[in-house]
Amino acid sequence: SVVLEKIRHRKSLQLRNKQMDWQESPDGQKMLEFRKSLPAYKERDALLKTISENQVVVVSGETGCGKTTQLPQYILESEIEAARGAVCSIICTQPRRISAMAVSERVAAERGESLGESVGYKVRLEGMKGRDTRLLFCTTGILLRRLLVDRNLTGITHVIVDEIHERGMNEDFLLIVLKELLPRRPELRLILMSATLNAELFSNYFGGTPVIHIPGFTYPVRAHFLENILEMTGYRLTAYNQIDDYGQEKSWKMQKQAIRKRKSQIASAVEDALESANFREYGWRTQDSLSCWNPDSIGFNLIEHLLCHIVQRERPGAVLVFMTGWDDINSLKDQLQAHPLLGDPSRVLLLACHGSMASSEQRLIFDKPPDGVRKIVLATNMAETSITINDVVFVIDCGKAKETSYDALNNTPCLLPTWISKAAARQRRGRAGRVQSGESYHLYPKCVYEAFADYQLPELLRTPLQSLCLQIKRLQLGSIADFLARALQPPEPLSVENAVEYLKVIGALDEDENLTVLGNQLSMLPVEPKLGKMLILGAIFNCLDPVLTVVAGLSVRDPFVMPFDKKDLAESAKSQFSGHDYSDHLALVRAYDGWKNAERQQAGYEYCWNNFLSSQTLKAIDSLRKQFIFLLKDIGLVQQNLESPNSWSHDEHLLRAIICAGLFPGVSSVVNKEKSIALKTVEDGQVLLHSNSVNAGVQKIPFPWLVFNEKVKVNSVFLRDSTGISDSVLLLFGGKISQGGLDGHLKMLGGYLEFFMTPSLAEIYLRLKIELEDLILN
Ligand code: ADP
Ligand code: MG
Repeated sequence: SVVLEKIRHRKSLQLRNKQMDWQESPDGQKMLEFRKSLPAYKERDALLKTISENQVVVVSGETGCGKTTQLPQYILESEIEAARGAVCSIICTQPRRISAMAVSERVAAERGESLGESVGYKVRLEGMKGRDTRLLFCTTGILLRRLLVDRNLTGITHVIVDEIHERGMNEDFLLIVLKELLPRRPELRLILMSATLNAELFSNYFGGTPVIHIPGFTYPVRAHFLENILEMTGYRLTAYNQIDDYGQEKSWKMQKQAIRKRKSQIASAVEDALESANFREYGWRTQDSLSCWNPDSIGFNLIEHLLCHIVQRERPGAVLVFMTGWDDINSLKDQLQAHPLLGDPSRVLLLACHGSMASSEQRLIFDKPPDGVRKIVLATNMAETSITINDVVFVIDCGKAKETSYDALNNTPCLLPTWISKAAARQRRGRAGRVQSGESYHLYPKCVYEAFADYQLPELLRTPLQSLCLQIKRLQLGSIADFLARALQPPEPLSVENAVEYLKVIGALDEDENLTVLGNQLSMLPVEPKLGKMLILGAIFNCLDPVLTVVAGLSVRDPFVMPFDKKDLAESAKSQFSGHDYSDHLALVRAYDGWKNAERQQAGYEYCWNNFLSSQTLKAIDSLRKQFIFLLKDIGLVQQNLESPNSWSHDEHLLRAIICAGLFPGVSSVVNKEKSIALKTVEDGQVLLHSNSVNAGVQKIPFPWLVFNEKVKVNSVFLRDSTGISDSVLLLFGGKISQGGLDGHLKMLGGYLEFFMTPSLAEIYLRLKIELEDLILN
């Protein structure tokens, strides 16, 4: 070991000499100068001293002050100076794989090295790490998984958890595990880095550890909201102005007038809403009018218009556009590239900040463009805090983000965009004031901003508990209730208990709380377990196509619009899709298929108009369907070719069975009476059908059971959606209703499956049905 010690010492000296050589070279000097100009540099000594004297330290500071790129380097440098360079091992976690890769590359460049020498990175399925790598940037998920293998993190000297203010699920998980580990590894150092000032929360969690704040400075940024933007740029807010594109269609000349009327109605409604103080109520209820400034449709044109305004009229400075996701970024980029001004490379440098960014492209994002060329960067919310582009003077903020883009859920993006928080909007605005005063354009009215939540809830409290429990099991973090009780902000114990119980009922966890085969697959799908179960069964039973639609429809919202003044017309339009199916879910499938067909003939909008459907919602369903297929391929449930998973897609009975499997225990019994239909569920007793359901108006429901996804409680309990199912489907696909009798019967039933519907089995069915009815009716 003396020999080993000597080798390490020699290596450490080599590292030190190499670094000194680089810092004396012209490039190295320039880099060093830049690094010394960052606010973090002034705190370097204080930071290092506090870290050496305390096991846990919280560091906060304005975005761009040098936390991510500098602090891990300071530690590495001081270890090298102390001739411990070959002994130290520093891990710095990032919430996103893109930042882990981008940051490691930057830090290596600052040290005049290539990646994989002393600095490396590791993300899922990818990495660049050498034998002598001492500073490793990785995703939080990677470190969590490493902890499973080595509970003590043997050999690691420093753990830096970056961007903890984002409160991702993985970061909260990691803190629980690290807190438990610290007493076992007294020499291990933990540094938590955060952009905003809720540092106390973290400090308290670790028993009042020191907090170091890196002071920063930003220039003032003026905020413009939608109303000012429209006025300033002279943009006419004619909602749905893209409808005109369809105007040439002969077949609907007749309807053009009606559409024009609707168009002006919406436009004036929007204008009214802008004026009225209670926009909030109006806007949040009627999604369709909110979508007028959703970047999906008219928003793109508004952004294009605004960009032209900036390029032609405003002072020099880069523009940073916050979009909801990659899809939007790509479509907008295509649209802008076709624009005569914005697509002209001699006037505009148009860049997208995305995951598979090559390093040359990455450099363009940070570099100053040639004089006379305007840099425009399209980015997601990762440019809020993880990446800092210094020369940004103008920010355009669409107000939405796709939450949950973390590694925990297999690194798949979360599926639906939601409004951001006030804090996030402020942070986006601040990105415009790095080098001089700036302007931020928020593409929503001031009153919408007022309605945003102050802060975003931590992911742990935002994620549906059932999914959270599955993640804990997947990461083998022990008993769900015990683990969550130790969290920074734990969820309600009773809700946790209910979630665990539910997972047992649907067969995702066994009695000892272990993941079942089903549970394991569900944990890899970033959707609620009941929807995941449908997807899995849809794939297994080769009945995927309609199941994709049902699940996407249940995750987005109902595409059937029910205007108050035309409720009857709308309801009869919807019931046309149902036929004699007695199913809202099957109606949805028909409506979607019909729309898809119409889309192929460029008549999608007309179809929606005739059938009281929201094309916005149908498009969202369409895009979710694609994401689901991608996910199912990713976990290997669907092969590359999509032929086979659909060989049973036409089988409506099978579809009902799969819907039942997913929605169970959401089930009510049906008793047809003389003049009415009586419905009962286990928890609520008597329930009623929501008037929007296709089953609401019927005389008789020829099914003994209805399964449902959602119920609403007004004075009575209403089932919002429902699908009729038979006894045998409920028995075979309905999971288990309690730990008692039925479960045993079902197991027994399994053995008789081949004799399906023999007299003896029919008898068993009958018995089971009576038992089930007993459960529900009493
Ligand atoms: P923080 O983590 O505190 O937000 P960073 O360490 O990420 O700050 O960034 C510090 C500075 O380094 C910023 O001014 C940023 O613009 C610059 N920077 C970061 N990455 C790069 C890069 N790849 N190329 C050029 N400059 C960069
Ligand atoms: Mg950072």
